[in-house]
Amino acid sequence: MTQMLTLNDTRSIPRLGFGLWQVPAATTAETTATALKLGYRLVDGAAIYGNEEGQGEGIRRSGLPRDQVFVTTKVWNSEQGFDRTLRAAEASLKRLGLDHVDLLLIHWPCPRKDLYLDSWRALIRLRDEGRATSIGVSNFQEPQLTRIIGETGVIPVLNQVEINPRLQQPALRAFHAKHGIVTQSWTPLGQGKSFDAAPVQAAARRAGKSPAQVILRWHIQLGASVIPRSTREAGLKENLDLFDFALTEAEMAAIAALDEGQRCGPDPARFEME
Ligand code: NAD
Repeated sequence: MTQMLTLNDTRSIPRLGFGLWQVPAATTAETTATALKLGYRLVDGAAIYGNEEGQGEGIRRSGLPRDQVFVTTKVWNSEQGFDRTLRAAEASLKRLGLDHVDLLLIHWPCPRKDLYLDSWRALIRLRDEGRATSIGVSNFQEPQLTRIIGETGVIPVLNQVEINPRLQQPALRAFHAKHGIVTQSWTPLGQGKSFDAAPVQAAARRAGKSPAQVILRWHIQLGASVIPRSTREAGLKENLDLFDFALTEAEMAAIAALDEGQRCGPDPARFEME
């Protein structure tokens, strides 16, 4: 099940992982270990989720060798700027109990704060020092991507953004494709708002899968990496079971028509919360 996507720095990332946003700190180790035992190999965390200790502990508890697990964390908005980002990454590694992460992201660009370029330069330093194997961004839009690439010559391996049937971001995904940036979809299930949509229901009936599985498979077939969250073992299992069926071109096109440009989460052009 651990199908991989190749990154522009020659590394690779699983197409499917699981996310730790809103997973309680007290149960994160258990959820992480369970997910890894079920077959997940990518754990998406962030400093702001407040559960990096559990993320690291769960990886150790799974018994998997470190190099079998792809670990992501993110630098929070209040830690932007060159020196602060360096310190924030070290603090994350300490909480995780790891000497490196596989992927380090800038969580939000915070364009008004205008520190994301300095933060990006810090990520380049951390990559060069081996503290992050690969580096990328999250919630960046085209102007910020163009700027960091133009100023540093280093292209993020990935941009983790909100994508679901109601918010498909075709222009941003085309920009990613042009520059060899992997799209990673957050809130991939879109708060269940498209589960009842006719094309999702029809594909689910035809394939003998759930609406959630159809939507996650749609992400995979878009070429994205996808990181759904579930804290229930049955939900984790269901979301892992995506690789024994495929959506037809007509089903993909019908789901494409559900795009309404409607976000579940904040608008990255304005979101500056610390
Ligand atoms: P999600 O789309 O994964 O949805 C989670 C919700 O769907 C939960 O309520 C869960 O119980 C339910 N669910 C999960 N599997 C289901 C299934 N098979 N059937 C029915 N319901 C199901 O949303 P999310 O947690 O918002 O996003 C996933 C991950 O993306 C997060 O955990 C986090 O790691 C990441 N994320 C990143 C950012 C960012 O700014 N970079 C923002 C939000 C989320």
